[in-house]
Amino acid sequence: METDTITAISTPIGEGAIAIVRLSGPEAIRIADELFRGKDLRSADSHTIHYGKIIDPETNEVAEEVMISVMRGPKTFTREDVVEINCHGGMVAVNRVLEIILSKGARLAEPGEFTKRAFLNGRIDLSQAEAVMDLIRAKTDKAMSVALKQMDGRLSSLISRLRQELLETVAHVEVNIDYPEYDDVEEMSHEMMRKKTKEVHNEIEQLLEVAKQGKILREGLATAIIGRPNVGKSSLMNTLVQENKAIVTEVAGTTRDIIEEYVNVRGVPLKLVDTAGIRDTEDIVEKIGVERSRKVLTESDLILFVLNNNEVLSDEDIKLFEAVSGLEYIVIINKTDLPNKLNLEKVRELAEGNPVIATALINEAGVDELEAAIAQTFFAGEIDTGDLTYVSNVRHIQLLKQAKKALEDAMASLEMSMPLDIIQIDVTRTWEFLGEIIGDTASDSLIDQLFSQFCLGK
Ligand code: GDP
Ligand code: ZN
Repeated sequence: METDTITAISTPIGEGAIAIVRLSGPEAIRIADELFRGKDLRSADSHTIHYGKIIDPETNEVAEEVMISVMRGPKTFTREDVVEINCHGGMVAVNRVLEIILSKGARLAEPGEFTKRAFLNGRIDLSQAEAVMDLIRAKTDKAMSVALKQMDGRLSSLISRLRQELLETVAHVEVNIDYPEYDDVEEMSHEMMRKKTKEVHNEIEQLLEVAKQGKILREGLATAIIGRPNVGKSSLMNTLVQENKAIVTEVAGTTRDIIEEYVNVRGVPLKLVDTAGIRDTEDIVEKIGVERSRKVLTESDLILFVLNNNEVLSDEDIKLFEAVSGLEYIVIINKTDLPNKLNLEKVRELAEGNPVIATALINEAGVDELEAAIAQTFFAGEIDTGDLTYVSNVRHIQLLKQAKKALEDAMASLEMSMPLDIIQIDVTRTWEFLGEIIGDTASDSLIDQLFSQFCLGK
């Protein structure tokens, strides 16, 4: 068990006028009190906030005016004593406060260490800890609510329930084997086992089905805008960015050409990427051919395919239709303010039932319909954020797949009428995989690896 006191700046660097320096550990209050001029923090009640000044021990001058919150364990996030120092003097002052705290005996927290302590002290379980991590990274409101829901422990409680069912099944078989003389315990039959495994299998499959949506909510729908030169791709991009809250992202260390723009269209996060040049692809087909452009386009979750209402359908347009065939796309017939020369009937036919939306981006006409179509595309299949437990984490998805596989092994053995004590080995494995999701059987190294992914100060 860790017993030292850790500290970090827990607000994003450079964001907002207020920065918070957080301390957690047995010495948190002592350290804060030593550098604070104001109320005696050692005698302060828990969960109280105090105005005062931080004194620089080297110069004896005021380093920063602050508000300090004192929170005594165990009713804190980490279950340890926690002090939060709210500074407002900009990064230089905040860094100075941090330095002073470090000089008083606190240690700089590793990334995610606050959350790691919360986990180790039993405050939260592993999937909740990961939800905090998602929350930190959450880029849109919807992603935020998914992360919050997970924090509520919805996934945890569902997984716990599934594990309980498996455990009961295994225990039942054990009792039958160890105490065959117990007549009052009904003999576990292959039929009962089949029913149980099938139930759990269904639930895991459901979780995996919505996992993709969870990933999209977290990372944004990778969206490409394609079409011939001059049809209005850049205009579309600009309209989407201006109409919708553009989400600013700080991709660490990106000095090169990776341009990601996030926009939030009716709660659906779109990630307009311009890496392989798939965002504004004037002549993708010309450049790399139908086959290869198709491959590039396959990596997008959504394609916005723009046509010009004022021009006849060209060979290039037909090639683009070939390239997007079978993928998720919306056809946009732009420049409807100009005379129609495009064969609309032909376009509808080529579009294979995908939405076809008319716009005149120059007047912002049709933008509402387009946004509705985008939202509709995403939420097709009745994905309702209210009722489902999302799995939005790659590690969870991996473990769910492994659990599903182990369960399928058990089901296959059942079909072959293998003895139940053999079958329960696979059932137990399933139980273990599910346990890893909520941290019940997670190894130390896995835990370290997970928490090191957290942002510093969380
Ligand atoms: P891109 O080459 O596909 O990116 O097309 P742009 O967005 O750069 O637009 C090409 C030209 O078409 C620009 O001069 C735009 O102002 C114009 N344009 C875009 N949308 C419309 C529209 O709805 N109607 C008309 N008349 N012109 C448009
Ligand atoms: Zn352009």
